[in-house]
Amino acid sequence: MSAPESSRLPSSQRIPIVNVSSSPSGKIHVREQYGVFQRIRKYSNTLLIAVFFLLPFITYQGRQAILLDVTQQQFFFFNITLWPQDFTILAWMFMAAAFGLFFVTVYWGRVWCGFLCPQTAWTAMFMWIEAKAEGNHHHRAALDKAPLSASKIRKRMTKHCLWALTALMTGCGFMGYFMPAKDLYIDIFTFSSGFWTGVWVWFFALCTYINAGWMREMMCLHCCPYSRFQAVMFDSNTKTVSYDAARGESRGPRKRSQSTDLGDCVDCHLCVDVCPTGIDIRNGLQYECINCGACVDACNQTMEKFGYQPNLISFTSENALKPTSAILAPQSQITQSHTDQQPSIPTKKLPLKALGYASALLIMCVLMVVDLANRSLIQLNVIRDRQTLYREVGEFVENSYQLKIRNKTQQPVNYIIGIDSRHPGCDLTLITDNKVHIQPGEQIEYPVTLRCKQSENTSAMSKQTISFYIADQATPSNKVSQDSNFFWPSN
Ligand code: SF4
Ligand code: SF4
Repeated sequence: MSAPESSRLPSSQRIPIVNVSSSPSGKIHVREQYGVFQRIRKYSNTLLIAVFFLLPFITYQGRQAILLDVTQQQFFFFNITLWPQDFTILAWMFMAAAFGLFFVTVYWGRVWCGFLCPQTAWTAMFMWIEAKAEGNHHHRAALDKAPLSASKIRKRMTKHCLWALTALMTGCGFMGYFMPAKDLYIDIFTFSSGFWTGVWVWFFALCTYINAGWMREMMCLHCCPYSRFQAVMFDSNTKTVSYDAARGESRGPRKRSQSTDLGDCVDCHLCVDVCPTGIDIRNGLQYECINCGACVDACNQTMEKFGYQPNLISFTSENALKPTSAILAPQSQITQSHTDQQPSIPTKKLPLKALGYASALLIMCVLMVVDLANRSLIQLNVIRDRQTLYREVGEFVENSYQLKIRNKTQQPVNYIIGIDSRHPGCDLTLITDNKVHIQPGEQIEYPVTLRCKQSENTSAMSKQTISFYIADQATPSNKVSQDSNFFWPSN
């Protein structure tokens, strides 16, 4: 509805008409909206932000439960430590998350973008700060246009200081996953952190400040790849925020109690004013729509004021809209929708692509569990002494090796070293102590010497394959082995 049309109505029957306020720079000043979906968003975003900040403070057995220690190449997840060799597990995990997201997208469209994406959550937090510092969308638009004054400077300074503080906290929160979180906040806020720690925290703080404070929906529109390819996961049963054009058109303003031949859309423009990406959902499905549901809440509010059925804009599917999608239907049929709820076609069939994503998700989960269960908790590397191939000591021949052994568990372990010879006539003996104690996560280099008596059995051999093994003394089944060679003097 345009302003002049609106002004022809008595004020009691007028609904608020607000254009998307924008500054000369084109910045969108989103109108604040309340309703069911905005409540869900508020709770989901709050939960996401709380989990992000609190997770690094959870301790397990006296240390940070989740710690991605890049310098030590160890990723701690409660009682699991992942090493570089175990990164396939992380790969399965990320792929499972991706297929899980694809699966959800087939049914619920971009529900991730609207309710759980960190970009959306942080943007909402920054917009909330902005509203506290500068007022509602009218005040913010007016402030944009106002000449420089003490009040404008004070409001802008307050906003930017609060944004900077939030961004800095976010930088600390993020880096808290990579280094001990408890000390990090103190070190940063007392300017006593190490140089590189400070650089990374301020870098992520700057990224947050720019993304959530300035770029906002531009990230979704121009940088996020998911917004570009999510449409391929949609089908006619995917639920997305949609405008029921058959019911809403032809749109037009009217008094609240006035009977009219028009469709249900009273052209109040609220759905556009509350849209964080500044689009008009009445123009159909658009990739800019992040499915936040703000327009659904706004339109339902208008429908309630006019005594119409809710959900002129709703989370629904193309199939559910089909029976009324004949936008060119006779006017008499269209106006019927003032009182009748739209019919829908529930479709229970599992779409082929959902089946594909679900299967891929299941496979990734199984691979992850199998990999996790079969990963070795000991790392063994056998390196032969490169200086001397063998030593003759009387009637014996000796070979020396370096064993690189890493304890990949989170407890100190006593290990036993042993040899499997593949030649029955050869009696190899380990002449070094075969017991070692290794601290959690520690790698030691342990020199060992093997000895064998020369005999008729060995005289024909120049080398034989042997196998070193190392086993946990308490759990002998926790064992790894690696092959090497034992060399003899050539005859
Ligand atoms: S069109 Fe509606 S659901 Fe989509 S981004 Fe805008 S307000 Fe959110
Ligand atoms: S779709 Fe709903 S919110 Fe949007 S202009 Fe029409 S009545 Fe208003």
